[in-house]
Amino acid sequence: MTNSIHLLPDHIANQIAAGEVIQRPASAVKELLENAVDAGATEIKLIINDAGKALIQVIDNGKGMNPIDAQNSFARHATSKISSIEDLFQIRTMGFRGEALASIAAVAQVTLKTRQAQDELGTKVEIENSNVNETSPIACPVGTNISMKNLFFNIPARRNFLKSNSAELKHIIEEFTRVALAFPEIYFSLTNNGQDVFHWEGGSFKQRAIHVLGNSYQTKLVAVGEKTDYLTISGFVGKPDTAKKTRSDQYFFVNRRFIKSPYLHHAIANAFEGLIPKENFPSYLLYIDVDPSRVDINVHPTKQEIKFEDDKIIYAFVQAAVKHALAQFSIAPSLDFSLDADFQQLDGIQKPFTEEQRNSAASSSLYAGFTQKNQAHFIPRVSDAEKKEWKSFFSDLPTSGDENNLTSNSDSFIVKSSSMGLYKESNGIKVNEDTTLLQVNNTYIIAPTASGFIMVNQQLAHERVLYEKYQKATVHPHATQKSLFPVVMELGVADAILLEDIIEDLAVIGYEIEPFGQNSFIIQGIPADVISGNEKNAIELLLEQFKHFSGDIKFSKREKIIRCMARQSAIKSGQSLTQKEMHSLIESLLECEISTLTASGAPTYIDFKESYLDGLFSK
Ligand code: ADP
Ligand code: MG
Repeated sequence: MTNSIHLLPDHIANQIAAGEVIQRPASAVKELLENAVDAGATEIKLIINDAGKALIQVIDNGKGMNPIDAQNSFARHATSKISSIEDLFQIRTMGFRGEALASIAAVAQVTLKTRQAQDELGTKVEIENSNVNETSPIACPVGTNISMKNLFFNIPARRNFLKSNSAELKHIIEEFTRVALAFPEIYFSLTNNGQDVFHWEGGSFKQRAIHVLGNSYQTKLVAVGEKTDYLTISGFVGKPDTAKKTRSDQYFFVNRRFIKSPYLHHAIANAFEGLIPKENFPSYLLYIDVDPSRVDINVHPTKQEIKFEDDKIIYAFVQAAVKHALAQFSIAPSLDFSLDADFQQLDGIQKPFTEEQRNSAASSSLYAGFTQKNQAHFIPRVSDAEKKEWKSFFSDLPTSGDENNLTSNSDSFIVKSSSMGLYKESNGIKVNEDTTLLQVNNTYIIAPTASGFIMVNQQLAHERVLYEKYQKATVHPHATQKSLFPVVMELGVADAILLEDIIEDLAVIGYEIEPFGQNSFIIQGIPADVISGNEKNAIELLLEQFKHFSGDIKFSKREKIIRCMARQSAIKSGQSLTQKEMHSLIESLLECEISTLTASGAPTYIDFKESYLDGLFSK
């Protein structure tokens, strides 16, 4: 008889546990920074190589460890921070689960050097695969210096899962920023591949916020501060004009711990209602302090989610505090007139559009003629219900899925230039250029054809047109117009890294963007057919959409960018169009290689054939 159950050796158990705590270099960074904070450091330096894949090192001037603790710190469930279950509800430290060092020692080659102030000599511990290779006395400064090399060196499958250096670096910077924002009194620095990325002197919350968000926030933060017996809330919200198309600058801390809480985010968004356009995100940096017994931080291995004793109270409180802050600074909805003034300055608001620009635009391409108005305020999506009805109207067009389904159909595309007053023919559809077109709801265009009519969705149609245009640009780079007054754009750290990553691809479609100091970029040129004046907004939107896409591995980076650009630059529903613009749109659409669907598979128009229409009226 053979037994099949056995106890896993420690190093394997630790590797498995590490899967929860250390998913990527950034998770190790977070744990090590938090340990340094817990040790009372006033100076914390983070050094990484190859986005943390080769090296992550944290040097602190905290209280250090004695030789025994130095060794024990790597054992599983080894912690100095709690000793009973009651302690769990009085936690004031970042760590308490005693898992981080054990996990790190299971998946990297670790060297720890540490000394307490009262000891003359420090201790060095070398550990790999959960095995201590060496412990020896060593001369070193007070504090702890821990370095981990070759993360996941012994778990190739995990190592292979790591993303590109720029993606991993982005995560590291995110974690670094969160800890730095929670503890502004501590000096933090970050060095990547020998280059100084950040060094932030200790100071006030506001000073740290400006370091992280950028100087442009100097005058754009509104202080939030309310105190009750139950909890204290402090921090800042950005004035409405700092609202972004991306979620980047949103930070919420509870007892100095960064947490993710869609629920509380909603409370803040609610307080901003009416002050910023619907699709924008307010920026905020809010700190809640509450008796630790009223929150449970142990609901998630990485401690980014917490449970409040009563989250409705917190919700109401956060919302009221933010509203109050906005009101005090005359940005409240009750003062509608001043709000209007603020509103007018938002980037998404209509830019001046001169007759001259209009003319040159009209001749250069379709797009320009459509850019006049408020497009940032209207991003309609066709609801699923509507789509379904549409589909039943389809006669011989493919109705779903990606455009690949179309290949069998592509033989039937006839694209020829105009003669006899017919300008284009695609899928056998002809629209006479003299015909008066009808725009319905500023959304659909009804165009009579030789055999019935087509109903075109103006936004989706334009998306297809632009998509093909940008696609061609990847073969023949798109023309750039140099900006007379280059625009400087300052982004959050995460967005800055993302933008850097796609800068070359944007160049192909005509955006000339250059890095310009910390998290700033200078826009030197924009695609020839984009009206200047709105470029910042356009890029913010692009980044936001790109993020939604970025998990999708089906598509190349360039394909994603093209799709985003097309979606973002397309004229929107709600935009009133002239006859000329409508004709021009339909002409360009029917000229497309695939005119019937957008790149993501939504129909661009529906063909109502006479035979179908007749059928509707039969008895
Ligand atoms: P936790 O932080 O949850 O207690 P860790 O595995 O992160 O667990 O660390 C284990 C223990 O090692 C800590 O409780 C602490 O006593 C000690 N330790 C870790 N890092 C440091 C540091 N930078 N300075 C001083 N002590 C440290
Ligand atoms: Mg810890």
